[in-house]
Amino acid sequence: MATRQAKSPPVPVEQPATLRQQIVALLQQQAVSAKDLSMAVGLPEKQIYHHLEHIRRSFQQQRKQLHIEPAVCKKCGFSFTKRQRFHKPGKCPICRGQAIEEPRFFLASSV
Ligand SMILES: [Zn+2]
Repeated sequence: MATRQAKSPPVPVEQPATLRQQIVALLQQQAVSAKDLSMAVGLPEKQIYHHLEHIRRSFQQQRKQLHIEPAVCKKCGFSFTKRQRFHKPGKCPICRGQAIEEPRFFLASSV
């Protein structure tokens, strides 16, 4: 039985990663703000928040968590630790300063 030289299997066509996959990959590498993500994938921040909601939901089912590094007031250092929303708060409840460091997000498995 003649065996033919096995050809290497065809290289699968590389699917371009979807935007959400790109976002997930970035979140797994480091903590990033919505602005960082917006620049990285070329989407307006509004849509980034939308994707983050979906990512948070789908990762909860996989025992992974989307962590939020809280926004911080640049003026007095107040940290918005209780805030679980993605949007940057408008102003600081302590000093009413409007210079707020954006919250950052990252993905970590809780295992
Ligand atoms: Zn403040």
